[in-house]
Amino acid sequence: MSKELVERWIRPEVRALSAYHVQDASGFIKLDAMENPYTLSESLIDEWLQQLRSLEINRYPDAGAKVLKDHLRDYLELGAEQDVLLGNGSDELIQMIVMAVASNAGSKQRVVLAPEPGFVMYRLVAQSLGMKYVGVSLNEGDFSLDLDAMLQAIEQHKPAVIFLAYPNNPTGNLFDRQDIETIIAATDGLVIIDEAYYSFAETTWIKEFQRFDNVLVMRTLSKIGLAGLRIGMLVGANNWLDEFNKIRLPYNINALSQASATFMLKHVGVFDRQAAQIRADRQMMFEALNRFSRLTVWPSRANFLLIKSEQSQTIFDKLKEQKILIKNLGGVHSMLENCLRITIGSEHENQAILASLGSIEQLIP
Ligand SMILES: *Cc1c(COP(=O)(O)O)cnc(C)c1O
Repeated sequence: MSKELVERWIRPEVRALSAYHVQDASGFIKLDAMENPYTLSESLIDEWLQQLRSLEINRYPDAGAKVLKDHLRDYLELGAEQDVLLGNGSDELIQMIVMAVASNAGSKQRVVLAPEPGFVMYRLVAQSLGMKYVGVSLNEGDFSLDLDAMLQAIEQHKPAVIFLAYPNNPTGNLFDRQDIETIIAATDGLVIIDEAYYSFAETTWIKEFQRFDNVLVMRTLSKIGLAGLRIGMLVGANNWLDEFNKIRLPYNINALSQASATFMLKHVGVFDRQAAQIRADRQMMFEALNRFSRLTVWPSRANFLLIKSEQSQTIFDKLKEQKILIKNLGGVHSMLENCLRITIGSEHENQAILASLGSIEQLIP
């Protein structure tokens, strides 16, 4: 087929993108995507499926997801003045936010700004919607915010939206709260604090948002063990959320996800205990990886660890040979050269990767 028509009609900024690549992982120990490693108990699965029996699949889902939202309000401990908007994963919320502000009116292209290295979806969504994306480098070494560079970029680009992942992916650290407050005060753009890893960091901005007119907090059920349901939450004041809600496709949260998430939130203790286990295993893994003298390991407040080694490609390839999949960050950002990201897995998976690393001769001092 000739490419002519495609090139004529598909916007150049879309043609310039590369699709988000997800590696085929069947048969692998999967430590590449920050998923919770645990499966549910048989009894919980039975109870869940029992609930789904009464679902009327011939009907459209509740467009407002009222029942689920009520449970989420409790889960998020929201105050009366705070509302929540649901997305098909927080990825969709990022898209809704950017769609609502994207504009090329006049000659001024509006800007989305985020620290880098960071979550790739901010850039992908901004560019796909024709916005200018500005990445501001973090400080080398500890990946803290380069506050001067951030303030200068805010001054220069007057961003419509700033995304701050708290903790950051793929570096795993929490940015300094005072730095974030300084950024919030310096911009009249919207600041989205992305708390995808809240359960592993246990610190939030949700309770503080009323101090600011321009802050919204994003959460997700993905990283606690429900990635398959695709439920993201945007928390904040109604005057913002009402506008984004106009862009939301009416049935974006399907009936199975609504019913399933509602059921799972009634058993949230299960997921809380798993998160506690993952936090403890993160510490174990941090110490175990640190014993490899040829690895650099960064402390993390998320459910993954960032490591660096001259032998990163060898490590990645050898693990893959042994059917263990991690994330190779080489080529993603200059600061991540020779870096790998390892999701904390189950006890068995963690032991398997440690054993595999121990068998790689280039890592033996
Ligand atoms: C994983 C991740 C998300 C994506 O969450 P979904 O709800 O699964 O779309 C959002 N932000 C950050 C920083 C992440 O790492």
